[in-house]
Order: sequence, then structure tokens, then C-alpha cells
Amino acid sequence: MRFSQYLLPTLRETPAEAEVVSHKLMLRAGLIRKAAAGIYTFLPLGYRVVKKIIRIVEEEMDRAGGQEVLMPIVQPAQIWQESGRWDVYGEEMFRLKDRHGRDFCLGPTHEEMITTVVKNEVRSYRDLPLLIYQIQNKYRDEIRPRFGVMRAREFIMKDLYSFDIDEEGMNRSYQLMYDAYTRVFRRCGLKFRAVEADTGAIGGDVSHEFVVLAETGEAVILYCEKCGYAANVEKAEAGLPVPEDAAPGEPEKVSTPGYTTIPEVAAFLSVPPEKLIKTLFYTVNDELVAVLLRGDDEVNEVKLGNHFNAPYYLAGPEDVKERLGLTVGYVGPVGLPSGVKLRILADRRVERMVNAVCGANEEGYHLLNVNPGRDFTVDTYLDLRLARAGDACRHCGETLVETRGIEVGHIFKLGTKYSSALQATFLDERGEEKPMVMGCYGIGVTRIVAAAIEQNFDEDGIKWPLPLAPFQVLVLPVTQEQMAEAEKIYEELTAAGVETLLDDREERAGVKFKDADLIGIPLRITVGPKGLATGEVEVKNRMTGEQWRWPLAEVVAKVREYLEEEGSSFK
Ligand code: ATP
Ligand code: MG
Repeated sequence: MRFSQYLLPTLRETPAEAEVVSHKLMLRAGLIRKAAAGIYTFLPLGYRVVKKIIRIVEEEMDRAGGQEVLMPIVQPAQIWQESGRWDVYGEEMFRLKDRHGRDFCLGPTHEEMITTVVKNEVRSYRDLPLLIYQIQNKYRDEIRPRFGVMRAREFIMKDLYSFDIDEEGMNRSYQLMYDAYTRVFRRCGLKFRAVEADTGAIGGDVSHEFVVLAETGEAVILYCEKCGYAANVEKAEAGLPVPEDAAPGEPEKVSTPGYTTIPEVAAFLSVPPEKLIKTLFYTVNDELVAVLLRGDDEVNEVKLGNHFNAPYYLAGPEDVKERLGLTVGYVGPVGLPSGVKLRILADRRVERMVNAVCGANEEGYHLLNVNPGRDFTVDTYLDLRLARAGDACRHCGETLVETRGIEVGHIFKLGTKYSSALQATFLDERGEEKPMVMGCYGIGVTRIVAAAIEQNFDEDGIKWPLPLAPFQVLVLPVTQEQMAEAEKIYEELTAAGVETLLDDREERAGVKFKDADLIGIPLRITVGPKGLATGEVEVKNRMTGEQWRWPLAEVVAKVREYLEEEGSSFK
């Protein structure tokens, strides 16, 4: 491709709308242009990257036994009503009506659609398992579309759905997909991790996220370097601390006038925050629930939400005053008012506390030497805290480490949630009717473009991993005088099947070098007066910064050698 004829509008200035580096660089390098919030056009250079990803994804899905289909984007409300998600999906769903007033949506995902297709076509256990996938636009009216194509309202997803006769089959399909995803992201040339994840609204019980590691990522991951345990912070569960070896003391009420927060009380009483019990109140289905945590812990809202399985909110000070007659800041689990229906949940760490400190349920006072079991009872102990770096791994005890990343893939075991709701059944060997056992598996194709940049950039621009690069080689003549030689190299490389971009613009060398760094093509071949005098070109590796001088006659052979060697590390 010749730069002079290519729709590749690079920008010097950073567009004000972009907050994160990948978004800035995608606009500056002429990969995308915005149509509306969270809705983008991929320009030619950007779309080449998208297609590279699509090709890798298709190859690996096919290799795992996937069959590619294309389902409609516009979906009838009826199938969503049958699954029960029409009403719960909420504002994230783009909804529309046809001329007859019938309800439709733009597919945010396709469980309902594929389950309907499969149920109509499959009767017997002999037809299963099936792995069906598509690569297509998805529509989600995100509350905060941001970071360019990273959190868009229209984006490309690969979604695959597995249908099996039983749980064992589903587990096999899940493992196939886990392995296929591992190959996809390795072949994309990305550093990533598979982490245990919360299953969220989609249902099901086991899930993993594939996260591209990048400091700027939204996803927080905790992992263990020793045993390999890794989980999204929403899901992560740490090991329990060893209980303190101390004899329980007698409860004692102490005056703590004006000290209401954990740090204030801890400092005033000269105890570490982990000796305090934090008491929070939540309202769930109009019922009040007390949640106890160690003073140094924070509540994990996802775990709490999963336990409640209903909308809930933190009760404010007025609420607590009105319903319990207590003043926030001095509350605790000992001697809570009787006569008010109150469920008490506590994080597992609370159970192990010895001689703890908590509010005395009397304004201006706290209690010392409080011991769970003896001084108060709890309805349910469960894991409710946010795990954090420094915690012990629950499997091997090693210290957990934190890292950040971008979720690019998510796989779920769904079980029979959708097949039961939509009556997707089959006849087993004995002629018995059974619901199919499903899994679903998504890859954010367009999000990968942004994630690859977040992981690979410097102050000058993008550094494409070779497998995703829009072109493999950029040929850059320093002045018009080297154009003929540059053209020749370009023609030869192109003829040899190398994806090459020739910067044939009548621009100053400085402009061309700046654009070369910005668009980040892996190999830059500079054809300059000095080199040509000795029959050489200068070659720069954008990713590593390495520079070489290659004899003109060997350019094609050297490029091929490089591509083969470098390419083989992504197999
Ligand atoms: P998130 O937690 O980021 O909102 P999700 O759990 O809603 O993601 P899934 O429904 O599992 O995402 O979708 C599968 C994949 O699609 C995600 O792993 C992600 O890579 C991609 N994806 C999801 N939402 C968006 C979006 N708004 N823009 C771009 N890609 C997205
Ligand atoms: Mg989402």
C-alpha cells in the first residue's frame, strides 16, 4: 500500500476527548473515527488490525470444532421474554419497535437466539455436542461508554455457545474453549492471564476471564506466583489468617467521644484497625441486614450482591437511627436492639477475631475484649471481603500479588439456565427428554485492538505485536531522491507476500519518521542517502528499538527470515 493514496489521517495533536493512551493513539494513528459516543468507524489501517484478530479467532475456534454462523443483530423481544431477561436487562439494551409496534432489540448477546435456533433443529443426543459461533457487532447502551473502542456501545464480539448432553460434556467443551482462548491470545502476541471470575448477571457458576496485562486496565487481578491461583478481585478469595493465640478478656466499655471512624477509634485506643469490627447495615427487600467485617477490610459488593441475590443498598445514618435507634459510628454486634428483625452476616475473618473492639451501641462508647460466639452470634459466616495484595493464597499460603489488566475474553459454564427457560431439550439414549447443558464464550475483538496498544506503546506511538500489526514492514525513503530505490524494495517485498506500506508522500523526513513511530509498524526500512552510498538500508525494530544495516540485495531475504523467526514465537 502507498501512503499517499491511503486513507490514513494521522494527527499531531492529541484529541481532547481521549482519556487513555490507546484511545489517543487510535485517533492519532488514524485507526478510528468517532460517529457518536461509543460508536466508531474503523478506518483502513484500524480495520486491518481487526481482521488480523478475526482470522486468528476463527482459526482457533474452527480448530476446537466450532462451526461459524451469522445470527441476526435485530432480535424479537419474545425470546428474551421467554428467558426472563427482557425485563431484567435494563437500560443497557437498545430496544426498538417495528412498524407494527412489535418489540425488538439490538443483540447485546445471543444466548436466547442461539438456544432458539438449536432447539428447533436438534432432537437427539446423537446431534450433540455442538459448538456454534459467530463474529459480529454487539450493541450495549453502556452507562459510561469510554476509552474509545474499549467500552463502546457498538463493538465486535466473537461469541460461541456450546451444547452438550450432560455436565461432563459441558466441562469438556469448557476446557476446549479455555485452551482455544489461551492459543488465541498467545497468537495475538499479548501478555495475558486467565483468571477466575464472577459469573454476574449471565448466570451459571464457573467462569474465567482472559485479561491482557496492562497497568492502565480496569480489571484488578490477584494471583499467586507459587501455585498459579489467579482471580479477578471481585471473585478472589484469600486464605484465612491464623487466629491470635490469646485468652479472651472481659468485655469493657470505654468512652470514645467523637471518635467514630475505624482509623480514629484505632488511633484513640492504640489498637491496629484489624482489631476492630466494622458494622455496616444494608437494606435488602425492605429487610435490614448487618454486615460485619474486620476493621482493615472492605466489603466486596459483588460477593454481597451474589449472596443477597436481590437489589440492596447501604442504609444511611438516618435509616439506622430510625429503624434501630442507633448512631452510626458507635454501632456493633453486641447487644443490638431486640424486637427488630435483623439478620447478621459476617466475613469469615471476624469469626477468628480475639478480644476485638466494636461500637457499644451507645453514643460515645466502644467495647473492648469482644469475642465472637461468646458475646454475639452471627447468622451466616461467609467470604465477604475484598481480597488484596499481601493476603495469603487460599491454596498454598504464598502471598498474593496484584496486577491490572483489560478483560478481553470471558468464558462461562451456563448449565441449563437458558435451555430450561427456552425448552431446548433433546432425547437421550433411553428416549428421555433432557435440557441441553450449555456454555458461552465471548471475545471482545475490537477491545483487543485497544488492549494491545495499552500493553505496547511508548511516548512516540504504538508498538504493534507482529501478529496484529496492520502492515509488517514500512519502507521510508528519506528524500524524493531515494524514491526509486524505495519503490523497488516495496515492489519486491509485496511480491514476496510481505505486507508492506511505502511512505511515498512528499513530506519532510521528520514528519515521516514521526508518523512511522506513531503507527508502529514492526519493521521500518529507511532508505537514505548515506546508506545507499554503501548499498545498505537502515532497519529499525519498533518493538525492541534494535537497529540493523542490511545490504540492499538481501532485504527481502532478511525480512522473510525475521518474519519467520519472530512469527514462530507466536505459534
Ligand atoms: P465488562 O465487564 O467489561 O462490561 P462483560 O462482562 O459485560 O464485560 P461479556 O458479556 O462477557 O462482557 O462480553 C464478552 C467480551 O466482550 C468481554 O470479555 C469484552 O472483551 C467484550 N466487551 C464487553 N462489553 C464491551 C464493550 N462495551 N465494548 C467493547 N468490548 C466489550
Ligand atoms: Mg458489561
